[in-house]
Amino acid sequence: MLRFSDISSAQDHLKKQRSHGKTIGLVPTMGALHDGHYSLIRASLKENDVTLTSIFVNRIQFNKSEDFENYPVNLESDISNLEKVGNDIVFTPSQDDMYPEEPVLSINFGRLAHGLEGEFRPGHFSGVGLVVSKLLNIVNPDRAYFGQKDLQQFAVISRLVKDLSYNVELRCIPTLRTSTGLALSSRNRRLSTKGLQQASILYKSLIYAKEQLQKKVDFLDITREIQNLCYESSVDLEYFEIVNPITLESISEIEVYDEVALCIAGYVEGVRLIDNMIVSYEY
Ligand code: AMP
Repeated sequence: MLRFSDISSAQDHLKKQRSHGKTIGLVPTMGALHDGHYSLIRASLKENDVTLTSIFVNRIQFNKSEDFENYPVNLESDISNLEKVGNDIVFTPSQDDMYPEEPVLSINFGRLAHGLEGEFRPGHFSGVGLVVSKLLNIVNPDRAYFGQKDLQQFAVISRLVKDLSYNVELRCIPTLRTSTGLALSSRNRRLSTKGLQQASILYKSLIYAKEQLQKKVDFLDITREIQNLCYESSVDLEYFEIVNPITLESISEIEVYDEVALCIAGYVEGVRLIDNMIVSYEY
C-alpha cells in the first residue's frame, strides 16, 4: 500500500494512474477505522482499479472544539488494517496542507441541512461540504463511497455533486452493526461495556418504530414509546424523526410516501450517537 501525506505527491501519482486508464475510488474517512469503513473500502475495491482511502480529521466540521480534540486517532493501527483489507493508497494530509488558511467559504445547504444533525450541529454540513469538495478536487475519483449511517451527510453530498457538476458516481453503503444492532462508529470506543449495551436501544427503537409504522400506529404514540425506551436505558434522546430520505423534510403524513427514513440521535455516557433506517411503507 502507498501512503501520501501531502496533496501534490498524491496528485502526481493519481495523474499517472489515470493516464494508464485506471479508475479511482475514493473513501473519505476521519480514521479510527472499523468494519463499517472497511465495507466501504471493499465496495470500492470491487468497482475500481485503484482505491484511495483518506484519513483526515476535519476540524471545520466540528461545532464543539472538544469533540475535535477528543476524536480518536489510531494512525498506526489504521494503516496496518488498511494493508490487510487490500486498500491501495492511504492519503493522510496535514491540517496545514488541507487548510493553509482558515477557509472563508461556507456552504449553505438550505433546507437539507436545517433539521436532524444540521439543527444540533451548526456549521457541521458546511465543513463536511468543504472537505468533500476538496477531496473530490484533489483525487478526481470515478466513484466515491459513503455510509448510509450518515444519511443526511449523503443527502448533502449528493446535492453538492449535482449543484457543482462533479463528475463522480456516489455510492451509499448500508450500515454495519454489532450483533446487538448497534451501528459501528469510531465513537463507540468511548463507551463502557454497559454503555455499549445501553446504546443498542437506538437500533431497537428503530426496529420498534418500523414495526409500529407498518401496523399504522400513530406516529406520536410511537415517539412517546421511544422516549420511554430510551429513558429506561439511560439514553438521552436528542431526536427521533421520520423524514423523506431524499429531501430529509419531516413527514407527518406517511401515507403519501413509498419509503421513509427513521432517524435517531442520543447521548450515552456523554457520547453522541446517531442511527437511521429506511422503511418501505406498504399501504
Ligand atoms: P467517519 O470516519 O466517521 O467520517 O466515516 C467515514 C465514512 O464511513 C462515512 O461515509 C460514514 O458514513 C461511513 N461509516 C461510518 N460508520 C459506518 C458503519 N457502521 N457502516 C457503514 N459505513 C459507516
